[in-house]
Amino acid sequence: MGVIAKIALFALGISFFIFVTFFGRLPALRRTPIAWLHRLIWVHLPNGAVSLDERLTGRRVTSSCTRFFNYMMYDRHPTVLIFFLILLVGGEYFYLPTAWPQLTPLVKTTGTISILLPYLFLYLSAFSDPGTITPQNHAHEMARYPYDFSLFHPGAECATCHLLKPARSKHCSVCKRCVARADHHCIFINNCVGARNHHWFILLLLSTAVLTLYGGVLGVRLMTAEMRRRFPHWEMLPWRANGGAGMDVTDWLVVWSWGMQDGGKGTGAGVAMGAVTLLALMTSPLVWGLLGYHMWLVYCGTTTNEAMKWSDWQVEMDEGFAFRRRLDGGRTKDVKVEPAWTRWPVEAEQVLVRTEDGKPPAEGGNLPGFGEWQAVWRLRDVENLYDLGLWDNFKDVFVPGFMFRDPYVPLPEGRLRRKRKRRARKIYLA
Ligand SMILES: [Zn+2]
Ligand SMILES: [Zn+2]
Repeated sequence: MGVIAKIALFALGISFFIFVTFFGRLPALRRTPIAWLHRLIWVHLPNGAVSLDERLTGRRVTSSCTRFFNYMMYDRHPTVLIFFLILLVGGEYFYLPTAWPQLTPLVKTTGTISILLPYLFLYLSAFSDPGTITPQNHAHEMARYPYDFSLFHPGAECATCHLLKPARSKHCSVCKRCVARADHHCIFINNCVGARNHHWFILLLLSTAVLTLYGGVLGVRLMTAEMRRRFPHWEMLPWRANGGAGMDVTDWLVVWSWGMQDGGKGTGAGVAMGAVTLLALMTSPLVWGLLGYHMWLVYCGTTTNEAMKWSDWQVEMDEGFAFRRRLDGGRTKDVKVEPAWTRWPVEAEQVLVRTEDGKPPAEGGNLPGFGEWQAVWRLRDVENLYDLGLWDNFKDVFVPGFMFRDPYVPLPEGRLRRKRKRRARKIYLA
């Protein structure tokens, strides 16, 4: 196997592994081979290794591995961030010496911008505060979103921070703090993604996606230009080679491998540019996929954390344990556990509960809401309070603070009604 093929296989393997790790738990991919592979890698293989170790060494290997794994997974450390930086810097170090002299001034300008932006957004998302909830900003953070009485209920206190959990917040076990509108803890930026850095994170994904695609396409163009000079009968599509007569696929591949190795003037630097081009083209779909997933979540008015919770609710609904009833949107709130008003323009009008026995909750309990309990079978029948529609959802992520409003000015009736139509089912492509 040639060097190029080895690099290609390695990059493909890494990309696929990251893909399975990131996407294997997505509700949309449940009952697909991706979810099955995710369970194999993250559940069955570790369990198998543990039982083997039990028999061989009495769990000595596992316990030291567990300590290392826990450190890697549940402590803040910049290992993956450094790996990401090495990929970026190393890729540019090997790519640019061959590519740069061949570029036009326009490509040099746009290329420089594409190279610099990921560093800028990496810095901003890694070193900015994701929205840490402190005693000082607690009242402010409580007023960010109302409780939806489905995913987030008033009165829950964080056992570590000893503060009431604001709606949409989550305690991060890695950062050891509560984070406002927590999306997820991202090991690539060694930071949480939350209300205050979500936009930087999405811009980091976008700039990295553009950089890998730009670098990959440009690298291919430089190589194929050289290949055409050396083999004038060669074409990008094998059946168009030799003036339309076609070309043997083996010969076509031989020209490619010449291009990747000697296209860069047959020097070591040329091989390096070819390898980086290949790596960029193969990782690009993964980055675009992650970007697409995060844009989709914003479109749905939800977060990674909440999508998981909705997925759990779908299971409860499938099994017939989910019930809902109406909630008075204008009710008087218990200000000990709930803010009197929030900056969000709508209020919850439903209560969602699960029961142990599949029967509606007994009357006379102290559950919020009024009227009959109804069984809920589908996500399309419940509201997602945090989905205001595409435009407002984007504003909430990219212009933090736009939702500020005077608590004493009631909302126009029409606005409230328009905002009522959004349903949780969007999350599931339903
Ligand atoms: Zn906490
Ligand atoms: Zn975190």
